[in-house]
Amino acid sequence: MRHLPAFLDIAGRRAVVLGGGAVAQRKAALLRSAGADVLSVTAYADAVLDGCAVAIGADAPEAQLQALSAAARARGIPCNVVDRPELCSFIMPAIIDRDPVTIAVSSGGAAPVLARLLRQRIERLIPPAIGRLAVLAAEFTGEIRRRLPDMSRRRQALERLFAGRVAELVLAGDERAARRQMAAELRDGNTDGGGMVFLVGAGPGAGDLLTLRAHRLLGEADVIVHDRLVGAEVLAMARRDAALIDVGKTPGMRCADQATINAKLIQLARAGRKVVRLKGGDPFIFGRGGEEAEALAQAGVAFEVVPGVTAALACAAQARIPLTHRGVARSVTLLTGHTRDGMPDLDFAAAARSGGTLAIYMGLAMLTQLRDGLLGHGVAAATPAALIENGGMRTQRTLQTTLAGIVDAAHGWGSGGPVLLLLGEAVGLGVGAGGGNRTLIASLEGWSSTIELHPRRALV
Ligand code: SAH
Repeated sequence: MRHLPAFLDIAGRRAVVLGGGAVAQRKAALLRSAGADVLSVTAYADAVLDGCAVAIGADAPEAQLQALSAAARARGIPCNVVDRPELCSFIMPAIIDRDPVTIAVSSGGAAPVLARLLRQRIERLIPPAIGRLAVLAAEFTGEIRRRLPDMSRRRQALERLFAGRVAELVLAGDERAARRQMAAELRDGNTDGGGMVFLVGAGPGAGDLLTLRAHRLLGEADVIVHDRLVGAEVLAMARRDAALIDVGKTPGMRCADQATINAKLIQLARAGRKVVRLKGGDPFIFGRGGEEAEALAQAGVAFEVVPGVTAALACAAQARIPLTHRGVARSVTLLTGHTRDGMPDLDFAAAARSGGTLAIYMGLAMLTQLRDGLLGHGVAAATPAALIENGGMRTQRTLQTTLAGIVDAAHGWGSGGPVLLLLGEAVGLGVGAGGGNRTLIASLEGWSSTIELHPRRALV
């Protein structure tokens, strides 16, 4: 290790910044945010270093920077000259500021750009409210010491607290509840962190359509209970030693039934585990997340729901189909083509009346009944329709047709991935979809020249 990482306490101390440019100003602001009494100068003189705790130079003439560095070194004052490692006695790391939590990243001066990239990556993993958790812990320090005099027991208890329910409440922004929980856990001597279940939406399958919160929880959970729809790309983000339980629900195939899944979640949480129940898309859209939430609430198990990008949004975005569009579609309705007894249980009349875009989940096996039901309730035969397979993934395929044509067009088309049916006038506007509506394309051309207007290659 070339440098010793350390955090300098410069509150109330004199800090000198030599230079007048934007970089110098940024350094002065940083020093001020650490409480320093900043003296900004544009010309070097020996006296500026009197009583000084740290000196920084940037954007100043070479001779002055050298003089600053030599004098600071001679007087034992830490000095940094921006982008001049040979003039520095310390280097400035890239920082992630979650006050009072601070993370510093350094490449030892070898590759500052790499350090900044790393900072960005780490930044995404550290929730903004993590600093609040540190503040809360500080508040309880006295009580924690009193109740747990033994240091190693204290440390274990704190580790569990920070990974458990208290931490989740703080990160979710409910500090009052977090304080109550912390007090209760300390009072009852129950600092096992408390098991908890997170009903998490995994999005349509692409790893980068996951929310940051889902990503963080995947990295923290002890156990991940997942569906078949959740792809390998997402599961790869799990903590390396997490237990993965596949309760794969493939339509028409044997799988763990809902009651068994509910019981499993409750059992794991009661054993103190942090459980992520990972579902394709959004947990509350045709994912039976509501039933799981109900069962958890009844069992008194703490849980939280994390939304995900649902199939309708992912499919439409990638097929460039606007789900609502001024003057064309003023509503989107999410429907399921499948029910427990195997027959579509749609209110066809209401769907036909809506006049907006219909997004029909699990409809592939019921296409004939769907077509006949909608036609029978007055939806026009020529209404644009699109079948979208593996929406949101690189393997997405789109089949553009009409309501009257869907059954024939879909014959032999699917390749086994999940398929969504979009229906409505807006579906014909798919930007770049073959035969796309000229009006929309023209209006888009008006505000952006970067939209690709070629027919989609994936069109079958
Ligand atoms: N909770 C999920 C939906 C689960 S129901 C969500 O919010 O997306 C399963 C149905 O969702 C599938 O039959 C299919 O109609 C649809 N679906 C899920 N993922 C899909 C995808 N990537 N592409 C197309 N349709 C998808």
